[in-house]
Amino acid sequence: MFTSLKGRSVIVTGSSRGIGRGIALRFGAAGCDVLVVSRRLDEANAVAAQILAEGGSARAAEADVTRPKDMQAMAKAALDSFGAIDILCANAGIFPAAKLDAMTEADFDLVLGTNLKGTFLSVSACLPAMKAKGFGRIILTSSITGPVTGFPGWSHYGASKAGQLGFMRTAAIELAPFGITVNAVLPGNIASEGLAAVGEEYMRSMVASVPMRRLGSVADVAHAALFFASEEAAYITGQSLVIDGGQILPESLAALKD
Ligand code: NAP
Repeated sequence: MFTSLKGRSVIVTGSSRGIGRGIALRFGAAGCDVLVVSRRLDEANAVAAQILAEGGSARAAEADVTRPKDMQAMAKAALDSFGAIDILCANAGIFPAAKLDAMTEADFDLVLGTNLKGTFLSVSACLPAMKAKGFGRIILTSSITGPVTGFPGWSHYGASKAGQLGFMRTAAIELAPFGITVNAVLPGNIASEGLAAVGEEYMRSMVASVPMRRLGSVADVAHAALFFASEEAAYITGQSLVIDGGQILPESLAALKD
């Protein structure tokens, strides 16, 4: 049995939909005070309202992870509302596809700026409160794409997701003396609004390449994030956990034949 997380304060960036929303709902159900963060306040408010309706504690904040001032305001909102920032789930991310021959500098900067620099800005904003308390759990949403696999159209995305792990390893060393752990979840293909936008054909081909023969759910990722946030994960830092139904395991297509 895991120690209850009731009363812990958690910020989840990019939680208006998809994986972030799943993480926010799961931490809400675990009794945490949840700050639901996205660029669209209406959507974030709707998720916070759902957590409240389910008996939890939540509020919403409008913030863009690419803007340092927004990240400072986000941290202040959590402190003003809940008195602490115990857990940060740096989850906000984008995955627009562009093959190398068509990729512009602006495409590259947008993806790296959101996924990688956004991770740095989210973490930096929360550090003063975590250091002051001598406690913190930081969970990054990376991906199998980049750290483990590749897919045409996502070289910038893969670089951003692998970059998050490079950031994590040194951050984990720097922050260990302050009682702060930094870990990452690496989702495979998870049924989210963002993935649905990639298209039906892509989703079908992904299901065919997963030994468990289904896409992951946002709850599958949320459970892993909850584990890294737990008291019981106190001695785990700088690590990553793949949540992909076995997708990275097959050596070839033949391995998936019945
Ligand atoms: P999604 O359904 O498109 O949701 C993305 C979330 O991020 C939304 O809440 C969006 O909210 C927010 N967001 C985007 N840019 C933002 C910004 N600049 N500032 C603040 N919030 C921002 O995507 P998802 O599939 O849930 O993906 C979430 C994370 O999981 C990403 O980091 C992604 O790389 C990672 N991931 C996803 C999969 C998958 O299969 N779905 C697999 C591996 C990794 P607003 O638009 O309201 O701002």
